[in-house]
Formats: sequence, C-alpha cells, structure tokens
Amino acid sequence: ERRAVVVGAGMAGVRTAVALRERGFTGPVTLIGAEPHQPYDRPPLSKAVLLGTAEGSAFDVDFEALGITLRLGCEALGVRPGEHVLDTSEGPVPYDDLVLATGAEPVRLPGGEGVPGVHLLRTLDDAERLRPVLARQHDIVVVGAGWIGAEFATAAREAGCAVTVVEAADRPLADVLPAEVAAPMTAWYADAGAALRTRARVEGVEPGGPGEPGRVVLDDGTRLPAGAVVVGIGARPATGWLAGSGIALGAHGEVLADDRLRTSAPDVHAVGDCASFPSARYGERLLVHHWDNALQGPRTVAADIVGAPAGEAPAAYDPVPYFWSEQFGRFVQYAGHHASADTTVWRGDPAGPAWTVCWLREGRLVALLAVGRPRDLAQGRRLIETGTRMDPDLLADPAKPLKAA
Ligand code: FAD
Repeated sequence: ERRAVVVGAGMAGVRTAVALRERGFTGPVTLIGAEPHQPYDRPPLSKAVLLGTAEGSAFDVDFEALGITLRLGCEALGVRPGEHVLDTSEGPVPYDDLVLATGAEPVRLPGGEGVPGVHLLRTLDDAERLRPVLARQHDIVVVGAGWIGAEFATAAREAGCAVTVVEAADRPLADVLPAEVAAPMTAWYADAGAALRTRARVEGVEPGGPGEPGRVVLDDGTRLPAGAVVVGIGARPATGWLAGSGIALGAHGEVLADDRLRTSAPDVHAVGDCASFPSARYGERLLVHHWDNALQGPRTVAADIVGAPAGEAPAAYDPVPYFWSEQFGRFVQYAGHHASADTTVWRGDPAGPAWTVCWLREGRLVALLAVGRPRDLAQGRRLIETGTRMDPDLLADPAKPLKAA
C-alpha cells in the first residue's frame, strides 16, 4: 500500500487529501500543516472574518471519516527525495507519494519587521490580531494598493477607521492590470473615503509611544500618523524549506511543476500558490496566487497519483485561471490571462457601477475582468475555455449576452 503525505494544510493541501480519497486512493493519507489551527479558508480573512461577521472559516471536511491523518503544528523542514523522506519539526516522515502545497508567504516591509503595530494579512492569527485594531478605529495606513490592500481598506472603512493607502506605482494593481483598466479603480478609494497616495514609497515606520500612534515615513518626508500599519505588497511561494532538496525552483522561488503538476523529483507533486505550471493554452508558465487554482489543481494531482484508468490518457492541467475580489462594495472577477491579447473591448461605462473588459487575441476571447457583472464572467469563462471566435462589435454592447460571433 502506498503512503501519501501532503505538506501544507491550506486549500490546495486539503483538497488534495480529499481528492485522493475521491479517486479511490486506499493507502494512508497524512496532511501536515505548520499552523496549529484546524485547516481553514483564506479569502474570508480579509472580509467577514476581519469584520467579525464570521467567527472563522474552517473547512467543512470530516478528516477522520475520510481516513486522513492531520498533523497540525508540524513544520516541514526539508525533503530527501532519494530516500523518500520528509523531514519535519516532529521528525522524519517516510512517503511513497509526496505533495507540496505550502502556499505563499507575504512579502515583508523592509524595516517593518518586529515594529509594533505593523501587520501582515495572510493567516487566521493575523486576522485575529487585526480585528480589535479595526474595532479601536485608529488611523490606519495600508501599504500596497493590490487585491489584499484594497480588501483590507474596504473592511477598515466599514469599521469606521480613517484609512490612507500608500502605493509605490502610479495606480492600484499596477503589476496585474493595464493602466487603462486600473485607472477607473482609483476613484473607488476616494468614493469609499480612503485616501490613496500613489508614487509614494515607505522609507520607514516610527513606532508610537504609549497612547501615541506611530508614523509611517514616506520618501517625500511626509509622516503619516498610524495607529496600525497593514502591509500588502505581495506574496512569494513558501518554498525556502526546499533549499538543498534538489527539487527545481523557478525565479520567484516557486516549485517548477509540469503539466501534470509533477516536480523534478520522482513521486513528488506540487500544487496551489507554491507552484507554477506550463500552460499550453497561454503558451507560458503560470504562477497563480488565487483560490480557484488551489481548488482545481488538486484533482490533477490526485488523478496523476492514482493513475488514469487503462486506455485513458492522463489529463494535463491547463485551467482558465479565475479569481474574485470584493472591494469598496464591488464584486470584481477575472478569468483568463490577458498578457498575449491584441484587442481590448469595453462593455459598459467604467465610471459606472458595472462594466466588463474583454481581451481578445486573433478574434478569440482570452481574458475578461467583470465588475458587478457576474453573468459576463460566467459566460466569458466558458467562451475562453472553448477558444471561441467573437465579434468585437457585438461584444461591446453591454445589453447583449456574451456569445460566439
Ligand atoms: P495557503 O493557503 O497559503 O496554504 C498553505 C499552508 O501551508 C499554510 O497553512 C501554511 O501555514 C502551510 N505551510 C507553509 N510552509 C509550511 C511548512 N514548511 N510545513 C508545513 N506547513 C507549511 N483568492 C481569490 O481568488 N479570491 C479572494 O478573494 C482571495 N482573498 C484572499 C484574502 C487573503 C487575506 C489571502 C491571504 C488570500 C486570498 N486569496 C484570494 C488567495 C487564496 O487564499 C490563495 O490562493 C489560496 O489560499 C492558496 O492556497 P494554498 O493551499 O496553495 O496555500
């Protein structure tokens, strides 16, 4: 009987353990996680959990009934692929199949480490530390106008805090969206009463005294009073512990997986935020840091471990990436990957409450961003999957459904 060991008890790890059972894997399955908490879902951490409208976000999975052994509070420290052994804080764990699902860790603010009042938002512990901060209605400085920064700013405004968002680029989401698409989002901050300071860099954080707020020092000399500072400047794959294992890593430290999510080491797969994979659909390697990838990838991993039924070719992992964000009262959704697009088509007025941007390549839909238009997203996602040819004129009419030319 083969023994499966899954490292990382987040979405990707939990879904992998469950998918192994769904696929009929009968050997022992062990799920190892560094955090002491019951495995939980991350998206609510910057939404309901932060605002206290939900207590927690533990996954509704009966691990015991599925015969999955949970080892929580146990940190993986290294892998010896030649010997099929995982080294952990609790000692060595032998495996026949190993799945790496250690996710990502937030990038820290240089000079912010250990300064009281400087927070990250990645874990349940982070969210629980931030909840009372919001309740105290301090002045809050958010560093980074990315997805997490925008969601945190939304929650902080809802809680009645004064919020300033500091962003090094000239607009929100500068790394992920073209300027013309991110431009209308700038106004969302002001509408919600959050100050957005673009082209501003944080030079340092001065801790406050007793009863005194700290200060965030910007490169132009401005000192912003801050009862708390929340840093959302990106995340990197949590793979430092793999150094020396011989498992191939990419430029961002991500595990380089193939199209069946196998790593360079035998019997070791990688999935979720910690791994990149080659996309035939988009002709490049994708490193996706979104929930849906941590939901879909595990099926491929489990299928590859259990093996395809005789006569069936193993399925390659080539999803249309998808994610959503809830910010400033808007539901923002994105599907696909627009890097190779040659045409942009707008549906609706970007100054209004609901609009969509479609990206085409050689007449076919490759990506779309929908703000408050979930139907566009659902229809568009399917059209991207099938590589359907579109009529740009029809597409530009927001009153017409998204469909093939
Ligand atoms: P993770 O969720 O990071 O889980 C990895 C687990 O591995 C962690 O629990 C970690 O403690 C553990 N681990 C790490 N190293 C080790 C080790 N050496 N040994 C043992 N265990 C280890 N995506 C969306 O699409 N929409 C959203 O609205 C959205 N909101 C988000 C809000 C927040 C606050 C955050 C942080 C993320 C959000 N995401 C969202 C992203 C989404 O949550 C991630 O893509 C998803 O959690 C990735 O799952 P994962 O299992 O790969 O990694």
